[in-house]
Amino acid sequence: MKFAKKLSLPVWIFIGMFAGILVGLCFLKNPAFTTDYLKPIGTIYINLLKFLVVPVVLFSIMDGVISLKDLRRVGSVGIKTFVYYMVTTAVAVVIGLILVSCFKGAFPALPSAELSELTYEAKEAPKIMDVIVGIFPDNLFAPMVKADMLPVIVIAILLGAGILSAGEKGEKIAELVNCMNEVIMRVLMMIVKLTPVGVFCLMANVVAVNGPEIIGTLALVIGIAYMGYILHVVLVYGSSVRLLSGMSPIKFFKGLAPAMICAFTTTSSNATLPLNIECCNKLGAEPEISSFVLPLGATINMDGTAIYQAVAAVFIACCYGIDLTFAQLATIVLTATLASVGTAGVSGAGMIMLAMVLTSIGVPVEGIAIIAGVDKIFDMGRTTLNITGDATCALWISKLERRRKAKANIQA
Ligand code: ASP
Repeated sequence: MKFAKKLSLPVWIFIGMFAGILVGLCFLKNPAFTTDYLKPIGTIYINLLKFLVVPVVLFSIMDGVISLKDLRRVGSVGIKTFVYYMVTTAVAVVIGLILVSCFKGAFPALPSAELSELTYEAKEAPKIMDVIVGIFPDNLFAPMVKADMLPVIVIAILLGAGILSAGEKGEKIAELVNCMNEVIMRVLMMIVKLTPVGVFCLMANVVAVNGPEIIGTLALVIGIAYMGYILHVVLVYGSSVRLLSGMSPIKFFKGLAPAMICAFTTTSSNATLPLNIECCNKLGAEPEISSFVLPLGATINMDGTAIYQAVAAVFIACCYGIDLTFAQLATIVLTATLASVGTAGVSGAGMIMLAMVLTSIGVPVEGIAIIAGVDKIFDMGRTTLNITGDATCALWISKLERRRKAKANIQA
């Protein structure tokens, strides 16, 4: 018992993941047990995390805006964060496209008979302008009820800015927001302690249901996506952490491991947000920065999703025997970057937004059916990347802010 108490949460999460894989392998032939009994426990864990997502994003962004104390500072931190997110996402798409183009020759064009049997019911992909209009709420509560995160972020930023500009009259509300943020974080920490159990149950079910055969013929395209994920982590995040934040990448990945495992198993950036905030703060991010940058990133920054969309779009085009032109590849860079902004930080959302990318290059959306069965495996990796990108940004902006404060102190 004493030994068990000595192990830290990340170690318990690791144990939960490996135990889950083992149990999943035991139930490979008969996944009914894991689906009927373990998956629901995993779902309870995810539900508990999800129900707190709206209050976490609302209060942490409001508190983040308020603690920046000055509207101009909100603007400058916001712009830097946005530019960092967009640039890293565009780089991610390019990495995905280069890699998938190298292996294109190995993708077989599927016989048309097989393609005509595809039955993926494509949900209509939203138009770019509709995504932009949808960011601005026409109602205070509807986005919160629907957990529609982009408008919730706009509401949080506007309310935070309103409190700041109300001066003395806003002070009491600011204090209330700060207290609410603390309360919500405490509740979150209670739920986060259940992570090893949640991870165990979810992992066991994924392995038992999908098994080795899920990989089958799709192994190559999954492998390419994962190569892209790893390249992006090493090249982009490794150099961002080292050069922009001045931190050893090993220290960074060690510190972020609990959040990365949580993302890998829950496949939801939103559900991982609390753990990501905690890991980043422990790694030395300024709490007011992480509570602004991370919730924003969980909603608009999806580098893993962007790589997946690039790889999947080219793969599906090959299955239809379509050789994409340079203009179509350039269109993928643009639409995959935008689609990843519009992707919600929940499980499987990236696959729905893939429809937008496919439509923009004239590839049949039904092709999504080819990879829909293994989307979970793509999603595990892409979500891990998504939250890691947010964390690198939080550390960089924190460093810039510390430097700015030090400069201001010297001048004072
Ligand atoms: N599951 C991803 C996330 O939450 C989104 C996606 O499906 O690409 O970050």
